[in-house]
Amino acid sequence: AGSLYVVATPIGNLEDLSPRAARLLGEVGLVAAEDTRHTSRLLRHLGIAPALVSLHEHNESARVEYIDARLATGEDVALVSDAGTPLISDPGFVLVRELRARGRRVVPVPGACALVAALSAAGLATDRFLFNGFLPAKGGARRARLEALVEHEESLVFYESPHRIGATLADLATVFGERRLVLARELTKTFETFLDGSAATLMARLEADPDQARGEFVVMVEGAAPRSVGEVVSVEADALLTSLLSE
Ligand code: SAM
Repeated sequence: AGSLYVVATPIGNLEDLSPRAARLLGEVGLVAAEDTRHTSRLLRHLGIAPALVSLHEHNESARVEYIDARLATGEDVALVSDAGTPLISDPGFVLVRELRARGRRVVPVPGACALVAALSAAGLATDRFLFNGFLPAKGGARRARLEALVEHEESLVFYESPHRIGATLADLATVFGERRLVLARELTKTFETFLDGSAATLMARLEADPDQARGEFVVMVEGAAPRSVGEVVSVEADALLTSLLSE
């Protein structure tokens, strides 16, 4: 039987496509792509024209049988998304889970991934981090998600779209106050920038220079300072005292 290759593609700079990824895209019998028109441009750049089929959040389950049947004939299939690593805030999870459950060979072909690129150059702690994907679109749900993260000591990483970056920074200011943030914008592209500071500082920077509010963002937040044993004990003592007094 054939293998499913999960192939990372560039997040901006085409030089980030690995030679192995380019070779495999030319060798497989079928490429399953989040958006076939988008992927066609990359394939044209590589000078190859493999058979393409769409695989996105609305048809992923329906595609499983089709792709499994192609693998059964011995053909290899590649899975790609519009940018970066498939399955990372992108389609592919249902397919990979199902194929693995059926004993098919699933092979990662690593490459660009915006969250790893952002963390690798941000200067925030990377020994432990919490990737949160996209925040909820609605304000109330977004703030609730952020509040649930406020005591985490790991660095926090979010994906964000350009039309919500302002609203998200405003919520980050409310929930995280003066906590240090790093915004990684347009990674690997011409206007790549890293901005560093509190949410309020970054909001002011984006308002002063609207160009800084355009493009794609990874938002990172420094983890909470570990609470000292003394603080933990005093919080517990306070709680105990309060409950004793109330009795
Ligand atoms: N699978 C992709 C990956 O491996 O990074 C992520 C796909 S997700 C749908 C798109 C989000 O990734 C964007 O909204 C942005 O938060 C982030 N992203 C992708 N490319 C980026 C870039 N060049 N610079 C900054 N962020 C980027």
